[in-house]
Amino acid sequence: MPNEFPNTITIDGVEIHLRVERKAVKNVNARMGEGSMQVSIPQRLERVEAMRIIDELARRLLRRQRARQINREVDAAALARRVALRFPKPPEVQSVEFTTITSSCWGSYSSRTRSIRLSAALRHMPPWVLEAVVAHELAHAIHPNHSPAFWALLRSVYPDTDRARAFLEGVTWLARSWDDLPAVERSQLAADREEQP
Ligand SMILES: [Zn+2]
Repeated sequence: MPNEFPNTITIDGVEIHLRVERKAVKNVNARMGEGSMQVSIPQRLERVEAMRIIDELARRLLRRQRARQINREVDAAALARRVALRFPKPPEVQSVEFTTITSSCWGSYSSRTRSIRLSAALRHMPPWVLEAVVAHELAHAIHPNHSPAFWALLRSVYPDTDRARAFLEGVTWLARSWDDLPAVERSQLAADREEQP
């Protein structure tokens, strides 16, 4: 059956060449290369179900690949250590990683591993916003909550904290609303405009 599966699939806007083979395997196995994916699937697996699993695997593998690439490009640990120096007692940072896993958080901090995880989407925002999120996560090294003491510390090491929060709220709002906005309003939003005084 040569045309049982498509030759390409598009995941997160990226076109991937697909090669699917039916084999004597128990589960669907996939290997992601540079722009291509090789998949072996059980002999009797239904086509529709196989496509669903292939789609899901492709998305996961592509995001993992993308995260690895980003973490090679950017030394986020250096940035975090620079931000840490602003603290009265600089928190220790073991590692910082960008993640492409979908999450409602911009960042997280683990006090067990002393590691910071940051949403990869932050990389495309102004550097001061990324720094604000790093400062937020580092402040959690001292206050593992959002108590008044936490905010006081954060605002003292990063005075633009509230501006960054408002920026990120705007980003979230736009990302969620974009598909529902009429074309005219979208182009209004995309137009160059003078910065508000
Ligand atoms: Zn927090």
